[in-house]
Amino acid sequence: MVQQTRKRRARCQCDPLCKQKPLKGQPFCEKHVRFCPRKAPLSGVEPPYEPHKYNRHKGIRESHNCYAYGLDWIELPVSKDCTKDACPIGYPQPGRASGYPKWSKVKGKRCPDLTARIMGEVPGVTFSTFTTRCPKGTRKIAPVIDENEDYHFYRQDKDGWWSHKPGSTKVTRRDATKRRIYDPLLASRQYPKSGLHYKQFCGYMCVPATRKHKLKRGGSKRLKRSDSKRSDSKRSDSKRSD
Ligand SMILES: [Zn+2]
Repeated sequence: MVQQTRKRRARCQCDPLCKQKPLKGQPFCEKHVRFCPRKAPLSGVEPPYEPHKYNRHKGIRESHNCYAYGLDWIELPVSKDCTKDACPIGYPQPGRASGYPKWSKVKGKRCPDLTARIMGEVPGVTFSTFTTRCPKGTRKIAPVIDENEDYHFYRQDKDGWWSHKPGSTKVTRRDATKRRIYDPLLASRQYPKSGLHYKQFCGYMCVPATRKHKLKRGGSKRLKRSDSKRSDSKRSDSKRSD
């Protein structure tokens, strides 16, 4: 695959126009590491960064994906097969609660489809930009797509930085190059080991700050071991691949 062998180039996340390379382990170039004038203003209802809520228990970690995390949704179904220690069930899938077909029934994954799915099941969601403050009571998420494989979500936290939960792995604030995420548009979304590259950025969306979203889990109960654990649209039990 061409994309996997192409050299990745990290960008300074301060500004899309900045051509300087980011410093090692930093999201910014030498100039912008001191000060970045371009900011994503907070609305005040952003969730705090509390990765342990999703990371601590295996059953929660493995049954919640990036979509659940982006919407600040935690829900363990009442079932004897699902406990805090183990919960091998499907992830909530965008559009399943609003009646869209399963991903396996549509050809590829595209931004317009993904964002329509979100709009269908998250009342009050609006499109936004990085530098625009979200309307009162809403906060930012950013859906992205690897159109052949997978979707992914980022969310902005209370301190302005962004975090995400790759598949069944732990919540993190790091991008694919281990840098903190200041702007998911400019952060690295290419994972060479798994081959996933979330090249398409679907925009910034403001979602209501509630934990009561009506999401529906999808996917099969019996899991294939061959899939990548990182993937958010496919359930799997294999080892993390990036
Ligand atoms: Zn810069």
